[in-house]
Amino acid sequence: MSNAFDFPGGIYPPERKQRSNQSALIEAPLPSRVTLPLQQHSGQPATPCVAQGDTVKVGSVIAKREGMVSSALHASISGTVGEVSTTQISIDGDGQDAWLRLPPLEWQYAEPHALLERLNESGIVGLGGAGFPAHIKARVVERHTIDTLVINAAECEPYITADDLTLRHYANEVLEGAQITAKLCGAQHIVIGIEDNKPEAIDALKQALTNSQPVPVELTVIATRYPSGGERQLIKKLLDLNVPSGGLPADVGVLCHNPGTLLAILHAVRDGQPLVSRTVTLTGEAITQPGNRWVRLGTSVRELLEQTGLNTSELHQVIQGGPMMGTPLLTLDTPVTKLTNCLIAATLEELPPPPAESPCIRCGECESVCPVALLPQQLHWYARAQDDAKLERYHLFDCIECGACSYVCPSHIPLVVDYREAKSRIRLQRIEATKAEHAKHRFEFRQARLAREEAEKQARKQARQAQQRRPSNTAATNSEKVDLRGLRIAHAAAKASVKKAEKTLARVAQEDPKQSLDDLEMQLATAQENLKAAELQLAQAREQQSSEESS
Ligand code: SF4
Ligand code: SF4
Repeated sequence: MSNAFDFPGGIYPPERKQRSNQSALIEAPLPSRVTLPLQQHSGQPATPCVAQGDTVKVGSVIAKREGMVSSALHASISGTVGEVSTTQISIDGDGQDAWLRLPPLEWQYAEPHALLERLNESGIVGLGGAGFPAHIKARVVERHTIDTLVINAAECEPYITADDLTLRHYANEVLEGAQITAKLCGAQHIVIGIEDNKPEAIDALKQALTNSQPVPVELTVIATRYPSGGERQLIKKLLDLNVPSGGLPADVGVLCHNPGTLLAILHAVRDGQPLVSRTVTLTGEAITQPGNRWVRLGTSVRELLEQTGLNTSELHQVIQGGPMMGTPLLTLDTPVTKLTNCLIAATLEELPPPPAESPCIRCGECESVCPVALLPQQLHWYARAQDDAKLERYHLFDCIECGACSYVCPSHIPLVVDYREAKSRIRLQRIEATKAEHAKHRFEFRQARLAREEAEKQARKQARQAQQRRPSNTAATNSEKVDLRGLRIAHAAAKASVKKAEKTLARVAQEDPKQSLDDLEMQLATAQENLKAAELQLAQAREQQSSEESS
């Protein structure tokens, strides 16, 4: 146990975790109907592969991964497929809870590619909130050397206790999931970071540590402070490493996963069980039976809250996620997804709307609490002035949207709302710029290809003419040969473009899971097309050369 390093700022909002951490983690009743959105992860939505009327079991694939950054979707109840639309698939349950599992894998002996494929086909995504596909995250080892796997069990946001309860019940399994992930990414160390407000989970982990092998596991208990569960903040706190501005934990040799994701990884590998349910914290003053439940994906939020004694006359709003970073639900007729870690059914007194905004008094409170050492006051001015150059200079994109600055602002300025809007605007501009660059690139590539094809045609014509003029046993001169060297260079360049596009796509998707990846996916597809064309040309040229040499 140690707590040697620190990140700047931070706040101490009321924890309000006692409301949901006093009872055991139990299964929510099996829903009679589920609605499964095709987009429950960062990247491209999944593509349906079932039709209305099809019979499915729990674990049947109902939508396939689409593009590189995407995730498969599985039936979470057995029954009959109802509506299949462009955004979601519904299933009417048969009450049988009949399962379809993949064959179990012994991870100790399985090849990494088999483990990776298992994560892919099981639809595993990060369950901490971002929903980044786990199989893509694991591929970070293609570009980085990973030394340490961090289990992010800080769960610093008020109200949420899903990881706490997961660890109390499944500490051994979470550590086994961590061992699988360490094997996949080549990590030599596993470090658990957990806040000191979870004594039962800490005790469960201490007991489980002794059984966890082969990679050594270290448990670090840190003081409770929001937002210690931010990846950068936790890495600083545990390992005294600074993730560079605009970079990823992998840049300092670290991969982070939360306990729920590691448990899902174990279930996928050891039990052949795809991601069909998750732990959800159900809390807030407007329900009478708060706690944590295993909930089948696609379950209606309304149904779930009603099962926990929802008092509709007291209900003011339902927040998905925590009170700092979560979002209010516009309707209760929405399903639980892979991203739903917490539902707060709050009364008006419990989470009242913020008072009206007043002008900034330049008190500097926001700056003193920022965990990234940004200047929130300046970012606020520049965001409202839409001064994008200044926003970039003041590292807007390093803001983790923790809301600590808004929380302390005496003028009640919705600072984090300003930052989100500014980020969206700048992202949109970047996408437009990338599109323009992409179009230019394609045009140039096409021109170069046409020129090369014309040159090759001429070369072939000249070679034929020379052949006809030459006595039959005279070989072609070097200048008459097909320009194999040029084609090899073009092929290598096309290959490098594919790699570059793959890297960019993976990096952007991981950095900012909310961003649209359409354009980068298109860029990758074009690079792949170009590579295919270059491969074909090279093969044809080689064939031509060998036929010339043999004639
Ligand atoms: S906390 Fe609010 S009032 Fe104080 S400097 Fe920051 S933005 Fe201005
Ligand atoms: S929301 Fe952004 S600017 Fe505000 S405290 Fe958090 S990281 Fe700093």
